[in-house]
Amino acid sequence: MQKHSDFKDFVEITPTAKLAVESHGGRAKCLQRLIRIDLPVPRTVALSFDAVHRMADGHLPDTKAILARFDADPLLSVRPSSEDPDWGGPGAVLNIGMNDARHAALAERIDRARANALYLRFVQGYAINVARLDPDMFVATEATDTALREALDTYEMETEEPFPQDPAVQLAEVLRSMARAWQGTSARLLRQARGAPADAGLGLVVQEMALGIGPGESGAGVIRCLDPITGARQVTGRYLRQSLFRDALHAQESLYLAEDPRGPSLQQVAPAVFDELDAALRLCRQKLREEMEIEFALCEGALKVIDAVRVPRSTRANVRVVVALAEDSVISREEAVLRIHPMALGELLHQQVDPTAPRDVLVRGIAASPGGASGKLVFSAEAAQAAEAQGEHCILMRRETAPEDIRGMHAASGILTERGGMTSHAAVIARGLGVPCIVGASGVRLSARHRTLTLRDGRVLREGDLVTVDGSTGDLLAGAAPLLEPALDEAFQTLMTWADEARDIGVRANADTPADARTARMFMAEGIGLCRTEHMFFDGARMTVMREMIFADSAEDRREAVDRLLPMQREDFAALFEIMANQPVCIRLFDPPLHEFLPTGREGMRQMAEALDLPLSDVVRRVEQLTEFNPMLGLRGVRLGVTWPEIYEMQARAIFEATVIASRRGAPVVPEVMIPLVSAKREVELIQTRVDAVAAAVRNETGANFDYRLGVMVETPRAALRAGEIAHHAAFLSFGTNDLTQMTYGLSRDDAGRFMGTYVQQGVYPEDPFHSLDQDGVGELLMIGAERGREASPDITISLCGEHGGDPETIAFCRSAGFDYVSCSPFRVPTARLAAAHLAL
Ligand code: PEP
Ligand code: MG
Repeated sequence: MQKHSDFKDFVEITPTAKLAVESHGGRAKCLQRLIRIDLPVPRTVALSFDAVHRMADGHLPDTKAILARFDADPLLSVRPSSEDPDWGGPGAVLNIGMNDARHAALAERIDRARANALYLRFVQGYAINVARLDPDMFVATEATDTALREALDTYEMETEEPFPQDPAVQLAEVLRSMARAWQGTSARLLRQARGAPADAGLGLVVQEMALGIGPGESGAGVIRCLDPITGARQVTGRYLRQSLFRDALHAQESLYLAEDPRGPSLQQVAPAVFDELDAALRLCRQKLREEMEIEFALCEGALKVIDAVRVPRSTRANVRVVVALAEDSVISREEAVLRIHPMALGELLHQQVDPTAPRDVLVRGIAASPGGASGKLVFSAEAAQAAEAQGEHCILMRRETAPEDIRGMHAASGILTERGGMTSHAAVIARGLGVPCIVGASGVRLSARHRTLTLRDGRVLREGDLVTVDGSTGDLLAGAAPLLEPALDEAFQTLMTWADEARDIGVRANADTPADARTARMFMAEGIGLCRTEHMFFDGARMTVMREMIFADSAEDRREAVDRLLPMQREDFAALFEIMANQPVCIRLFDPPLHEFLPTGREGMRQMAEALDLPLSDVVRRVEQLTEFNPMLGLRGVRLGVTWPEIYEMQARAIFEATVIASRRGAPVVPEVMIPLVSAKREVELIQTRVDAVAAAVRNETGANFDYRLGVMVETPRAALRAGEIAHHAAFLSFGTNDLTQMTYGLSRDDAGRFMGTYVQQGVYPEDPFHSLDQDGVGELLMIGAERGREASPDITISLCGEHGGDPETIAFCRSAGFDYVSCSPFRVPTARLAAAHLAL
């Protein structure tokens, strides 16, 4: 026995109906907006989240009352209306109301084959979605009388009931099945992967079908005025005569919209309708303040607007759209900035496959997430994680991806799936991660068991084969294709300029080499917030000199090694100053954890003996002397500077000589010299005295005058607690949250990975604190340090330069604590700038 609920379950969508996205979903609200701007939308009724929720529990609305809202004997469609269209929903059901009598009438009025097609489609949809029968029993066939009869017979045989003829019953069953589908596990997992809350609601819209079938110009199509990948303004979409809904998008014989050299177009066959659609798109842009995709039908020449959705698009296209909308005064600049999610920018900043290079295309699919990436082909999430652990790039191939593949997707440089479309799990997740992705690479044969992929041309790819994903074109290429660095277009630059106008916290980059500094400039960082000088010595020949310095037994030997390092450092710093042109550059004095610079194993020591021209026994002895039980807490940072003064003195000299060179070249700088791993005021006093002395000597020798700022890196808990006394000797305090996290938790940066998964899984930590700043504990030390530092020295500059600096939540924390800037890796600078702007708006 059906139960009808007592209160109002549905509302006809009119310009004044009470409807909200939060109660009826985005589609219902959008249809109301289309009606308000006078577009010819067929009559539509909306069911609220509440109503759908109750329907899932068996409380069905009065479908007779719904039917009474339409003209006599309507054919209806039901479509989902979730709060955010990206959260998906059950598939639409069309042609509700078809029955034997209606079929006979239509066969008479239109023609038999088309009437058959309408009925057959409804029977198929109903059988699969409502009666949950096996889809294989209802494969599409030609819409003959026999096919229709067979479908009805199969239905009746399988369900042991006649096919329902009463439209009210049909509608009730469709509504109930859609409501239940939303509650199902797979739908819930999919929407949660797309960011929906667990209790997200679903609305439904019941609409009178606009039949694109019949005499005159009848058909259906989809039109938009945007290239969804590049964002260029151009009419795209398809139209198919004598069709329903979105069939045009999949049919070979469909027409282009605007005139096109590739084939016939709607503009040619029905120019007035094309103009009407073009005007509708413009009206939507102006009034709905968005680039919309319109789904339409032509019913004997008359236009009906069935639906409109925001054109699904790449971030690159989205940036172009919002900038153009703001430049046309449709939206404000602030709104344009707010419409781009900071994390989405990652997609713009990625490498692209060089389009001019030769291409050996292995597979073609849908370009689902832009950018190019090369790596070894792997067929499971586990293999992707194993490759990442080995430091190898890999391309993850799956038939389709599921939530349990997420970790593998994080580990992969590129993703390829056999099934799926632009909004499939793989596509949505990959875009979120900014990982290049191709979906729907059909026509291949995947064997996960044998770990092979057989291509159309018979070639077989195996696990480990090197391939390149071109997520911008949808091509999988053989080998490692040449990649181009990201090209940042004008719209991106404009948007970032607007973001900067709003932003009230600085963003600098962590940059160690001239290449990093150029990237930092390109992304408009406001200077370098952390130059890790020991990273300037990671390459072969330089590493040897660095090791000689660390290895030196006597002050004399050390001086010799240091003298060889001096010109290299001077050159490095001069290059950084030149690239950063007048912007602040904060150079951190050496902080080499010794184990990173010592050789390991016998072969390593033999090579080192050879490079340093020492007997192997000397190397073994010295390595033993220098080996530390806890290298992260050993002789590193300022402790090295205090113990072996000549090292920091050399660096100070290199910085000041480079400063003089820069100012003689016309690019004066005020270098910032930062002391790492400080835990006591006295360390700062000692280094300050020595650095001041070097500055005086360089001024004396060169006859040039210059300023510099000496600051302290706060990365031990004691430095945060004693920031008050330290601040008397520092022009700035920069929080190094990597070490500060390590030391606050007593958690080794290098070893925590071994059990972090278990810790997060069991809820000991909400997240890995090295990825996501622990605002409660480490954050409290930041607050204490900043407060005490400021109290002692009100003009002191306060910043954060750990890996957390590019994370929007950390930026929010720093901003509310009144920090002057954050510093993060160059590729995260645009995200940080935009996130900071969002906070200020
Ligand atoms: C830090 O500790 O936060 C930091 C930025 O320094 P490093 O990562 O080089 O130790
Ligand atoms: Mg550190």
